[in-house]
Amino acid sequence: MDDTDSLHGGCTTEVLFHLIQNLPPNVEVGQARLVRLWPFARQRTRGNAAVAIELKTSDEPSLLEFFDRFWNDTILPLKGRIEASRHNEREQFPSDPGMVWFTELEPNVHLYRNGLRQEMTIAELPPPAKSWGGHGRIGATLAVCWPAQTSTFEGIAWRLPYSHGNRKLDAKAVELVDNMDSTFLCRDDRLGTSLLAPRGNSPVLFGVRTWTKEAAEEALQLLISGEQTESVQGYLVFETNHATNDHLEDSIDIEIKRVEILKGGHTLLYSSTNQYMAFKESGEIASICQQLCQGDVIECMGMQSPDGSVHIEYLRIKHLVDVRARPLCSICNKAMSSMGRNQGLRCKKCGRQIEDSWVKTPRSLPVNRWIQPPASARRHLAKPLDEASNRENNL
Ligand SMILES: [Zn+2]
Repeated sequence: MDDTDSLHGGCTTEVLFHLIQNLPPNVEVGQARLVRLWPFARQRTRGNAAVAIELKTSDEPSLLEFFDRFWNDTILPLKGRIEASRHNEREQFPSDPGMVWFTELEPNVHLYRNGLRQEMTIAELPPPAKSWGGHGRIGATLAVCWPAQTSTFEGIAWRLPYSHGNRKLDAKAVELVDNMDSTFLCRDDRLGTSLLAPRGNSPVLFGVRTWTKEAAEEALQLLISGEQTESVQGYLVFETNHATNDHLEDSIDIEIKRVEILKGGHTLLYSSTNQYMAFKESGEIASICQQLCQGDVIECMGMQSPDGSVHIEYLRIKHLVDVRARPLCSICNKAMSSMGRNQGLRCKKCGRQIEDSWVKTPRSLPVNRWIQPPASARRHLAKPLDEASNRENNL
């Protein structure tokens, strides 16, 4: 299912949790999945995530009846609500939930990749055995098709119904979970803030990301049993495409032609053929891009946005050109200027003259080191850099 977020802080993961809780007897429940899709989708909701689960039953008709009831009673009331988000700058669409049921569907790398990199229509997708709703059927189908060639896990716990205000998480448990080898993106080191709890209106108490399923289960238990952690209505481990970099193509080398600093601190880089955007929120990436010069060569990875520019998610400097300037007058400390070809330099202020010369301006930029935005400004799909990323050039 997909697109069941709502004004009242609904969350697609919680709807799936409720579906599982209310299944008819004798249905075997498989691994839940949480799949992030094309981040630029026009009609997207908060996280642009779809969910899916494998269910096994010997009584399919009863299961389908249950789906009908669940759709009408639980999901349909969410339709048409506009999801509230403080952070979303794009046009808001009313939620248009969708649910699909497949009895036969092979994992499909091709469809999944397309679903990550471009807008898709329902006509491009294989028809389900049964479906409910509208636009959300696209993401729902892609969540089923996802081949999960590489995957990570997220343990999610939901607050009790009607919980409002600050989330209570046991600080000691948060620290333990943060220090586990197999967790990632628990905190934004730059800001020193925890990333376990979502911001704003959401039924999610926390989501803890891990490299293995066992770690997700362990971290969930640690956090839930923490003395100061508020009571939860339930929890579930999702297999996800977070931190897989599945959305990215191979990196490319760019020779910089021009750098333009935009209003708001964003920076646009021009190569001879393309434009590359570094958002202010990308931190070090943006500050480095602002200091690049014509002729510098960088390697980068990012997604092409609908306006054609590539939004930089990984960057490293491969070559910096020498930047030279005229020396300063030793008396006035002002840059001296040329009096003409082979005529030497002169200080305009005091008239001092010296031989024609240049000084190299040191460029204190990191060469050959991969950089990515701070944790809180990254896509869910982006893989965190570690030491091996630089050592083996393996993102
Ligand atoms: Zn001078």
